Amino acid sequence: MAPRRYTDDPVSDLYYFEQNNSSNGKFLRYCQGRIDAIVSRQAMMATGIIFITFLVSPVVAMMCTISVIIGELVDCMFFLHIIHNYNANTVRKSHITISIITGAFQSLSISVCLAIPWLASGPDIRFFLLVFLAGATLNSGVAWRYNQTAISIRFIIYLLTAMALFIHDIWVDGALTKPLIQDLLGASVLIYILIIFIRFIRNNQSSRQRSDYAMLKERVKSAKINLALLEKERETRQLAEVAQNSNDVIIFLKPTGKISWVNKTFTELFGYRPLQAMGKDPAMLLTGPDTNRRTLGKLRLSMQKERFIRVDIQVRKKNNCMFWIDTVLTPLKDAEGKIHSFVSVSRDITHSKKQMSDLKQARADAEHAAHAKSTFLATMSHEIRTPMNGIIGMSDLLRQTTLSADQTEYVDTIVSSGDALLQIINDILDFSKLDAGKLQITPEPMDLHKNLHSVVSILGPNAVEKKIDLSLKFAKNVPDTVMGDDGRIRQIVINLIGNAIKFTPKGAVTVSVTSKKKAQLNCIEIAIQDTGIGIPADKLDHIFERFTQAEDDTTRKFGGTGLGLSISHLLAKQMGGDIIVTSEPNKGSCFTLKMPLKSVDKQHVKTVEKPSPQSGCDLQNTHILVAEDNRTNQLLLRKMLAKHVGKLEFAQNGEEVVDMFINTPPDVVLMDVSMPKKNGMDATKDIRVWEETQNRNTVPIIALTANAFPEDRIKCLNSGMTGFLEKPIKKQQLLDELGQILPKFTPAVKAANKSLPMRPP
Ligand code: ADP
Repeated sequence: MAPRRYTDDPVSDLYYFEQNNSSNGKFLRYCQGRIDAIVSRQAMMATGIIFITFLVSPVVAMMCTISVIIGELVDCMFFLHIIHNYNANTVRKSHITISIITGAFQSLSISVCLAIPWLASGPDIRFFLLVFLAGATLNSGVAWRYNQTAISIRFIIYLLTAMALFIHDIWVDGALTKPLIQDLLGASVLIYILIIFIRFIRNNQSSRQRSDYAMLKERVKSAKINLALLEKERETRQLAEVAQNSNDVIIFLKPTGKISWVNKTFTELFGYRPLQAMGKDPAMLLTGPDTNRRTLGKLRLSMQKERFIRVDIQVRKKNNCMFWIDTVLTPLKDAEGKIHSFVSVSRDITHSKKQMSDLKQARADAEHAAHAKSTFLATMSHEIRTPMNGIIGMSDLLRQTTLSADQTEYVDTIVSSGDALLQIINDILDFSKLDAGKLQITPEPMDLHKNLHSVVSILGPNAVEKKIDLSLKFAKNVPDTVMGDDGRIRQIVINLIGNAIKFTPKGAVTVSVTSKKKAQLNCIEIAIQDTGIGIPADKLDHIFERFTQAEDDTTRKFGGTGLGLSISHLLAKQMGGDIIVTSEPNKGSCFTLKMPLKSVDKQHVKTVEKPSPQSGCDLQNTHILVAEDNRTNQLLLRKMLAKHVGKLEFAQNGEEVVDMFINTPPDVVLMDVSMPKKNGMDATKDIRVWEETQNRNTVPIIALTANAFPEDRIKCLNSGMTGFLEKPIKKQQLLDELGQILPKFTPAVKAANKSLPMRPP
């Protein structure tokens, strides 16, 4: 392994150094060194051989040459084999052992090369041969650190050779002659010099190796530090670049809160050049009269507490123009956790703030408009229902008197027109609720078969009147009972079957109910097929839109408002379903209501028994107190009830009804809701408080109101009322309600209340 020059890469230099100085590395260097030194070695040998040729004889020189060449060949062949076939990782211990043997052989060959002329010529050439041997020893000594065992054996062989040759000469001379002593002394000095010299070389090599190693390690260490520094510097430069070119405003602050650095966007947005901002307090430089002091305080507190904070704040430009920023303030800490600066990253959010406030305003406006619409609808509904109560109620009463055929027809027309008008009001209310997403669907266990049979029986007379065949059929797999909103499903089907009858001059209307199972749900399909006038293809897409009819003259010919289908469609959608229509002009239409409904056990379905009027209750002994400010309605109620009840009293307003109640508690109160002085709900509350303080049982109070929204019903019941009747009221409806409520309270309530002494409130 050739020693490697140091490069620019200290890490790989260190790697090679360590490889070179490992025991295998040193062995490879030993092999390489022996090969490299072959020329100088042979030159020395050749010189020696020439001397021997002249000083001893050519034959002896030849013998020496042969011996040396054999030794060199054995040793170098082995080294060449190692160098060409192995590296530091593959050299084995056995190779080192073999090198010791070949080394010993080569040393022996040199010893033979010396011994032959020594023995052949005697003492004249002895000193020359000793010096020659010293040269060979020195040559080996240079490589001592690379293969200590092999070189030590060489030393021993050379020493033994010299000793043997001296012993031979002493033995031949028979005594220690003067020249022998001189040569022995010379040899000893030579050995001494060799030892010192070889030790010097060895120490020198070791200390060079150590210093090289230390130097290389140092180079690696400093290279690593340099690399880390370069990386840091690159990172810092990149960050500075990002900060400088960021679209956000970036401000660095000292721990004291003073500006230490700003980026380009700061200058662009605020109008201050960096030097104008540096060292300034942003709370002074960048705030204005509209800046929120509390937010500013929060920012200050976060800086004091060394905490992260994000706020929206209004700030001031150099030209005094105020604008909104969203700012994030972050403390920056060093490795010891000590604050060295703060960084604030801010963005102009004036535009989005404006959008937000516009949106807020638009929402408030929309809510206000929706509220105004609801109020308007509620008022309209109330105002129309109140006179309607008079019209419908009175015609109802009129119909029960003896009339001529013509009069009966007139009254019937008034009643049906009243009903139609009421239907329109209800439709408009429903539609506006659906439109505002305020109409609630309340699924309950319901009997689907019963529901559809009752719709068909309600509309049956209309079909009979037009001589149309109306039929209803169920597929076998249609569940009897499902979870659904009974009232709303009835409303949709009445509308669809009603339309089918209305728009079919002759033929039949067939209602077929089928069901498809989808996971846990049944997809119920109610298809209403008629043989009527049909709908032109270009109108089909629009008939679900509000106030839309297929033809302009539909209202004139058939009546209607064009609201029914849009309400039905919205209701179906709200139930998770849909209405699909197919139609062909003059052939007929098919409207299919699809609804996903869960089937339930029949036992869960509530059965409402229709009460029979006055069942279990004798109205003849009943004292009824009516609170009603409207004269027509008073007259109507008097006419409806006078004949049936024992005592009928009227209060003109909310205060009066409370007084009259306390004076003579009735058996039941019929309470209008909108009344002068005190409304019906407040009057009810007063009555309930009085009953409580008097320790009396509660008397039923039934609301009679033109406020027809579901929330009105809830409000009435919450104020303490017992029942709720929507105006316009029909006589039978009223008697039914009284018949249903009164038995629950009388005679137990009556008896209990009557036994109590009257006390002033
Ligand atoms: P209305 O019946 O009060 O006009 P609808 O919303 O219920 O309102 O119906 C909208 C229009 O759709 C009807 O005016 C009519 O033109 C058309 N239409 C609905 N059902 C049928 C049907 N079965 N056959 C033909 N046309 C129909």
